[in-house]
Amino acid sequence: MAEKRDYYEVLGVDKNADDDALKKAYRKLAKKYHPDVNPGDESAAEKFKEASEAYSVLSDPEKRRQYDQFGHAAFSGGAGGYSGFDASGMDFDDILNSFFGGGVFGGFGGRSRSSGARNGPMRGENVRVSVSISFEEAVFGCEKELDLNLREPCGSCGGSGAKKGTSPETCTRCGGSGRVMQTQQSIFGMVQTQTTCPECRGAGRIIREKCPECKGTGYVTRRQKIKVSIPAGIDNGMSVRVRDKGEPGSNGGARGDLLVEVRVSRHPTFQRNDTDLYSTAAISFTKAALGGTVRIKTIDGEVEYEVKAGTQTDTRIRLKGKGVPSLRNAGRRGDQYVTLIITTPTRLGREQRAALKKYAETMGEQ
Ligand SMILES: [Zn+2]
Ligand SMILES: [Zn+2]
Repeated sequence: MAEKRDYYEVLGVDKNADDDALKKAYRKLAKKYHPDVNPGDESAAEKFKEASEAYSVLSDPEKRRQYDQFGHAAFSGGAGGYSGFDASGMDFDDILNSFFGGGVFGGFGGRSRSSGARNGPMRGENVRVSVSISFEEAVFGCEKELDLNLREPCGSCGGSGAKKGTSPETCTRCGGSGRVMQTQQSIFGMVQTQTTCPECRGAGRIIREKCPECKGTGYVTRRQKIKVSIPAGIDNGMSVRVRDKGEPGSNGGARGDLLVEVRVSRHPTFQRNDTDLYSTAAISFTKAALGGTVRIKTIDGEVEYEVKAGTQTDTRIRLKGKGVPSLRNAGRRGDQYVTLIITTPTRLGREQRAALKKYAETMGEQ
């Protein structure tokens, strides 16, 4: 399979492009490559699809953030149980209709979902929670079990909200559509507008006898343990998506997702920047002058390092591959940068003082 192109590159915009710039860029490409304008042209169809996918991700702030963090990996569901997005589930017709209102290219307005969407399947909302993990857990990945109250369709009434043995009645005011037409006088003449039905508040149904279990809501709350795999290399503020653990959908719609934001605690020794780690290590002035082996703390444990003779304080050394695993590129790790601090002895014995004095004399010091 060919390498997937960067979404920003596809749209020809830079990484900081705002909504307007994205919309403009996409509109241009969509007009150029839309299948209705290029009948039978497969490469145009492919380009159209590519642009639509890029736009559908970048125009959604949450998906854009995930894409900026993880790249295409955010959607492939690859690394360590990390389930990303399914870009194929996007409704491109909806995006196009919001642009062109179906009027620019005669024909493709008709393919959108029916306007009676209220009674059609609706996907549940996403739920956001956060979880605190240690610095090491972020570096190496971990499993967390969350105890959450999730809403479930009520078992007693099957989610209808009506008492067992009864069923909701279709609203007579709106005929079950949830919408009513209103005619108003305006400066342009009589205008008809559609509003939410006041009788059923848009539900299209009226419950005469409420289910006592769920008080007519159709949902009950149940405590659930949910396992979350946090991939190695995750950073503070990033989110992990757990599919189908959000709010339940309505009218047969899919559940939303659970988005778990990760809060990473600080480490006393290491600072982190992306996949690199930074630390300091103290070495004695004699080791610095003569050279020798020092032990340096890494996130994997201590390692030995050969200091060159004549090392100056604030020298920065690099320990290759001792950083944080890359989220985008499993198996690759960043580096650790260690600043060597040369320490001066504060308490000298007689013998040591004499040796140092002798050293000073050889250097011509008083
Ligand atoms: Zn119920
Ligand atoms: Zn109604």
